[in-house]
Amino acid sequence: MKNELECTICGSDIDEEAGDIVGYFGISPVSFCVWCHSSLTDMVIQMQGFDDIEMLEERIAYLKEND
Ligand SMILES: [Zn+2]
Repeated sequence: MKNELECTICGSDIDEEAGDIVGYFGISPVSFCVWCHSSLTDMVIQMQGFDDIEMLEERIAYLKEND
C-alpha cells in the first residue's frame, strides 16, 4: 500500500508512525516530515525570542502574575 501523503515543504514521504505530522493550517491540509517539523519549531523559537533567557524570564513572570 503506497502512502499518498508527502511533506508539504520538502515532498518526502510522510510516515506518521515515525513522528511525521499531519494536520491543518486553518483549513489547508498540511503534512510535515520530522526534519521540516523540527525546522519550523526552531524558526518559531527564534522569531518569538524563545531562545533568549531574559525574554523567557520576563514571560514566566508575566504568566505567574496572570495565573
Ligand atoms: Zn519535509
